[in-house]
Amino acid sequence: MSYNIVKSSINLWKEIKMIIDEKRINNILEKSIAPSFEEIDKILEKSKQAKGLSLEETAILLNVEDKEHINEIFNTAKEIKENIYGKRIVLFAPLYLTNKCINNCLYCGFRVANKDLPRKTLEINEVIAEAKALERSGQKRLLLVAGEDNISAPLDYIIETIKEIYDNSDMRRLNINSAPMDIEDFKKLKDAEIGTYQCFQETYHRQTYKRVHPTGPKADYDYRLEVMDRAMEAGIDDLGMGVLYGLYDYKFDTLALLMHAQYLDKKYNCGPHTISVPRLRPAPGAKMEEVEYPITDNEFKKLVAIIRLAVPYTGIILSTRESKKLRDELLDLGVSQLSANSSTSPGGYKENRKHESDQFYTDDERSLDEVVKTISDTGYIPSFCTACYRVGRTGEDFMKLVKEGKMKSICRSNALLTLKEHTLDYASEETRESAEKIINKLSQEVENKNFEKELKDRLKRLEDGERDLY
Ligand code: SAM
Ligand code: SF4
Repeated sequence: MSYNIVKSSINLWKEIKMIIDEKRINNILEKSIAPSFEEIDKILEKSKQAKGLSLEETAILLNVEDKEHINEIFNTAKEIKENIYGKRIVLFAPLYLTNKCINNCLYCGFRVANKDLPRKTLEINEVIAEAKALERSGQKRLLLVAGEDNISAPLDYIIETIKEIYDNSDMRRLNINSAPMDIEDFKKLKDAEIGTYQCFQETYHRQTYKRVHPTGPKADYDYRLEVMDRAMEAGIDDLGMGVLYGLYDYKFDTLALLMHAQYLDKKYNCGPHTISVPRLRPAPGAKMEEVEYPITDNEFKKLVAIIRLAVPYTGIILSTRESKKLRDELLDLGVSQLSANSSTSPGGYKENRKHESDQFYTDDERSLDEVVKTISDTGYIPSFCTACYRVGRTGEDFMKLVKEGKMKSICRSNALLTLKEHTLDYASEETRESAEKIINKLSQEVENKNFEKELKDRLKRLEDGERDLY
């Protein structure tokens, strides 16, 4: 090996080590046990400025136990989310392309060693049928999800599904959650006009990671850790990160996730577009009978609210892994995107759906219509907006607008327009009634009179039959 190759390998290794420093995280956690009320008050005061928190400050909040301070964390998370993004809650659904997978993640029903799972990779016509079924319920934004299988679902197949869905349905934004790839493949994915690329590290704790990912390409912790760098280098700047809560200590993994986000922000001037908060669920054929690091609902609520305080500008995504009750409560704690009526198996949106090939069992099984009604009933705006990515407001440009406080009013108008469209085309009578109340109320509250007039004109144009206005 030449001197230069050795040197660049050493540099790469140093950089990987820099992304996650386990020793530093453990030190911070040790020092933050039993914080004083004075320390907590100071951090909460700082968090109200919505400038984000250091890892040390976040660790202290993760160790808050008294009810009064927890309530203050909750109230601050709600306030920050509304100051930045307003009242909109973006909705989407996952569309599973394949449950074939060469990895062996112990917690997942798709793992290669699960011989009881009926395996399926959707044909292109089946992918379109799934997208159409979701379109009929009113979805405009999908998350395409795939197991890792280069034979039945190589990148070219994924790219073809993206093109076919855009061409044959009214889906306006397709995000992807698939196995990590190299820079060349990410460039192809970018050319296919994806929205966000998502990939969860699952756990940042190296030893646990190794144990729960025994075989397959995913067993390589570092290759997965560097996935965001490769995507950024390929020009994909809307990135979604996450950990699978329940695999390891939630305080460690939350700090590590934020350390990773800070690293990206520093290196690329742009942190993650979204953070997902999946929590381990029972899965048919999984090899983990019990959750080793269970998190109570109260701890989960606390950690979601603290993520909002720590990275105020990042979208927080909540899936149907959580119960209806908890999801409704989390609306008030900083969450900004929800999936609804999800299936976790390829072909799952067909009528009479079965659960035999699910990746894991979901909890909240409400229809999209019911979720839209609940969100409207609680005073938020269910949003089907896809405008940012379609006008090129991504990555650093998006973050700049958010940080300047300009997204709130853009989001409100677009959310109201897409909700109006939804009420005209898809909503039940009860949902329409509830949504109309929100549309009427919030379209009166636009600060700028010109914007208010423009919004009202567009709402009228939708009533007259135009669509897709933003
Ligand atoms: N196969 C790719 C991967 O693993 O990155 C992408 C898709 S995988 C189907 C999407 C996510 O599902 C994983 O990143 C993991 O966090 C989550 N998941 C797997 N098993 C789960 C379970 N039992 N409960 C909750 N989430 C689970
Ligand atoms: Fe495959 Fe992803 Fe499931 Fe792991 S989590 S077995 S990589 S589908």
